[in-house]
Amino acid sequence: MEEEYRQGLNLVIQMLRSLENLPDFRADTFALQRIARLADSAEYTIAVEEPRTSEPPQRGETVPQEVLVDDPAEKQMADRGATTPSFEELRATVLACTKCPNLVAFRHSVVFGVGNQCAELMFVGEAPGADEDRQGEPFVGRAGELLTKIIQTMGFQRSEVYIANVLKCRPDMPPGASGNRQPTQGEMETCLPYLRQQIEHIRPKIMVALGATAMRGLFGKVEQMKLMRGRWHLFGSIPVMATFHPSYLLRNQALSEKRKVWEDMLQVLGRLGHPVSERQKNFFLAR
Ligand code: URA
Repeated sequence: MEEEYRQGLNLVIQMLRSLENLPDFRADTFALQRIARLADSAEYTIAVEEPRTSEPPQRGETVPQEVLVDDPAEKQMADRGATTPSFEELRATVLACTKCPNLVAFRHSVVFGVGNQCAELMFVGEAPGADEDRQGEPFVGRAGELLTKIIQTMGFQRSEVYIANVLKCRPDMPPGASGNRQPTQGEMETCLPYLRQQIEHIRPKIMVALGATAMRGLFGKVEQMKLMRGRWHLFGSIPVMATFHPSYLLRNQALSEKRKVWEDMLQVLGRLGHPVSERQKNFFLAR
C-alpha cells in the first residue's frame, strides 16, 4: 500500500508537470482518474500506516525526485513528464505506425486495444490474428470468445477490463498461406514501447500475460509456459500473472488444463481483493 501511495505521488507530480506546460492549463483527465483510483485504495492504508521515521516534506519544500522515484519504469514515466501523450494521442500514433513495413503492407487494421482505460485488470496477448485484424479489436476470434468467458466467469464484463497485445499488427503470412504466425522477438521489441505507454496510462493493479509469446514480449523470457504459469512476475511495479493462452485451451480440452488457468485467475481475484464464491472456487475440479 505504501507502494500505491508512492505511485500516487508520482502521478501527482506527473500531472502537475503536464499542467505547467499546457498553454491553456487544461487538466490531464487520465492522470486525474488514475490519482482518484489510487487515492481510493490508499485512503485506508494511509490512515492506519505506522508513523514514518522521517518527516514528510513541508508545503513549498522541494522534494528530490530520487526519493520518490526508484522504479526504472516509473522513473521513465516521470522523466517524460509533460511530453506524455494522452491516451487518444497514443492511440492515434499507434494507428498510424509504419515502423514494420512488412506488417504495414499486410495489415487491414492496427489493433490498439479495447476496454476500460482505468481498468484494475489488464490482459495481454501476443498479436492480432486474422479475425482481430479484420475487426480492429483484440481477442474477437475463437480464442477471444474463450477469453471473454474466462473474464465473465471471474465476475467482470469484458468492457470492465483492458485487453491488448504486445504486437499491434497481425504478423504477415506468405501469399496464399492461411492461419497466423507468432510475432518475432524483433517485431515485439519494436512494438513494446506502445504497450508500455498503454500500461502507464491505465496503471492496472494486475496484469495477466496470456501465453509464452506474450511473456517473451513483456519480459524477454524464453522459459516453458509450464514453468512460468501460476506465478507472479513484475512488470515495473505491476504484478503479472502468467497463464496459458486461450488458444492452448482450445487445442487441449482437458479439464486439468482448464483448472490450471482457472487457478491462475483465482490468484488474480485474490490479489485484487475480490470475493470468490464457493461455486467459483470449485470450477473445473474433477468429481
Ligand atoms: N491471440 C492473441 O494473442 N491476441 C489476439 O488478439 C487474438 C488471438
